[in-house]
Amino acid sequence: MTAEGTLRADIVEVGRRMYARGYTASNDGNISARLGSDRLLMTPKGVCKGFMTPDMMCITDLEGNKVQGDRDPSSEMLMHLEVYRQRPDVAGVVHAHPPTATGFAVAGIPLDRAVLAEVLTTLGSIPIAAYATPSTSELPEAVRRFVKAHDGMLLANHGALTIGADVYAAYYKMETIEHFAKISLVARLLGRENLISREEVGRLQGLRDTYGIKAPAPICAEDEPAQDPAACQVVQAPSSPRARLVPSADGDGEIRLTYRQLTELIEDAVRTLR
Ligand SMILES: [Zn+2]
Repeated sequence: MTAEGTLRADIVEVGRRMYARGYTASNDGNISARLGSDRLLMTPKGVCKGFMTPDMMCITDLEGNKVQGDRDPSSEMLMHLEVYRQRPDVAGVVHAHPPTATGFAVAGIPLDRAVLAEVLTTLGSIPIAAYATPSTSELPEAVRRFVKAHDGMLLANHGALTIGADVYAAYYKMETIEHFAKISLVARLLGRENLISREEVGRLQGLRDTYGIKAPAPICAEDEPAQDPAACQVVQAPSSPRARLVPSADGDGEIRLTYRQLTELIEDAVRTLR
């Protein structure tokens, strides 16, 4: 198979996996890959990503002009073009609406806490790009703020975007984000998250070199901003010398009670006072 044929087949397979795992519904989502220095292969508008065929893809230039293909390119093409412009190292872009990660994007909760060692080593943090009307030029603008330093981000009230050295690398980051979102949700339902301390985050960052992970930017702590905040992956990790894990519960933590539990507490207190 030619290099182009392989790339077309890769996009079809990534679309199939995305749909099979419920990361997209109906015709949602889009995938693209770099095809040489000034050409992109892009999924077409208005097709279900679970049932594409290699001949459906469009070829565009880096300005978004269609060069080849019977169909029109994805309505989110502008967001893909922005990624390729900002990140010469990137050759694959995936956009989907995985339900748990998108839930965090709707709640306005970024996945930026130091919780999972492997996520810190690979993705660092997963911020939320500001809300933008899909398919307009607002969306690439919202993405621009984070794309230089991050390989994955949530899109407020919309979905998630991941990028990588090829289309599979981008897709696997989408799997990691959704998996991370599910684990974070369970931990929060259970009522606490033990965070990885800032010192341990430093050690994990050192592993990037050991494992040859090409992260686009270093990790920095929320209250120790880098000189260029756009060039660092901000992670919430409490400083706790000598401790590798830090319980997240603190004096300002929120507790939730039902009305019945609250009423019982008040009645108990009133009885005690009598
Ligand atoms: Zn979308």
